[in-house]
Amino acid sequence: MKVTDYLNNGKSTLVSFEILPPLKGRSINALWEHLDPLMEFKPSFINVTYHRSESMFKRKVDGTFEKVEVRKRPGTVGICAAIMNRYKVDAVAHLICGGFTKQETEDALIDLAFLGVNNVLVLRGDAPKNETFFEPEPGGHKYAIELLQQVTNMNNGIYLEEDLKNTVKTDFCIGVAGYPEKHFESPNFKTDLAYLKAKVDAGAEYITTQMFFDNEKYFAFVDACRNVGINVPIIPGLKPISSKKQLTIIPRTFHVDIPEQLSSEILKCKTDADVETVGTEWLLQQSKELKAAGVPILHYYTLGKPTMVANVVKEIV
Ligand code: FAD
Repeated sequence: MKVTDYLNNGKSTLVSFEILPPLKGRSINALWEHLDPLMEFKPSFINVTYHRSESMFKRKVDGTFEKVEVRKRPGTVGICAAIMNRYKVDAVAHLICGGFTKQETEDALIDLAFLGVNNVLVLRGDAPKNETFFEPEPGGHKYAIELLQQVTNMNNGIYLEEDLKNTVKTDFCIGVAGYPEKHFESPNFKTDLAYLKAKVDAGAEYITTQMFFDNEKYFAFVDACRNVGINVPIIPGLKPISSKKQLTIIPRTFHVDIPEQLSSEILKCKTDADVETVGTEWLLQQSKELKAAGVPILHYYTLGKPTMVANVVKEIV
């Protein structure tokens, strides 16, 4: 089924999860250990993130170093298929512009279509670590909207090679990202919203948000979207805070605020277990309020903390 089928037909608030592919060379079994305990909550779908190559310096036999490009987390397409096969649950493949040519993206989309993965979340991706600005790959896309247009073209049977004959129309349901606290590169909220509206006008069927820790930011974002004519469903993205370090890392990495009440409660904690208790309780209260407000789906970034997410979701479903 498509994400939009769940959004349109869900009788009460549903749940979905997001996972990362394992590091290159690692077994998929660690992923199953992560996901197995979450499956009792019957998620509607599971998102699998997509990752570009990063530059690394590798020592050569002569002791000098060479710069190499390494994709540390490949496997998104295969993992989507493996999830659907193992759990009979739909998978949503993330796709990014950064680091990929249009041709590589087309090939990935063909693989996804053959495997029956008909849900994609199209994204731009970030600049590689240690680089300040996002630069598109030569022969790649600059913005998520261009990638989205490539997918809608394929949904209309239009591939990159214009003279292909008897092309198949793919049938991808397309989601995009939205930022309740504004995308960090955008000069202001209004401009960011205008580009989000352009993605929806170009065919995005729903929005999944960046994580937020203050529900008021989500509610204000939904209102702002509706006021500019963005009428597609907006799935809230939620993440548990599990360590003191994250009070610094999360704002720096994701450009979101952590409410003062949450940060002060976490700073008072004596042990990691105490932090997890506070983080779980906060996520639970967020989830309950969002459910009461009638959000269609609660989307959890599980990222290494399935037990915390399970402890919240068991109170919600
Ligand atoms: P875009 O929509 O292209 O926007 C990027 C910036 O450009 C914004 O500031 C926007 O306002 C501006 N903009 C948009 N269109 C235009 C235009 N036409 N002209 C000028 N400016 C424009 N990253 C990964 O690498 N892998 C993942 O799997 C992944 N999953 C994610 C899932 C979610 C739910 C979210 C919220 C983020 C995810 N990210 C992922 C991170 C994401 O790639 C970054 O946040 C990235 O910086 C922006 O992606 P975007 O799709 O919102 O970009």
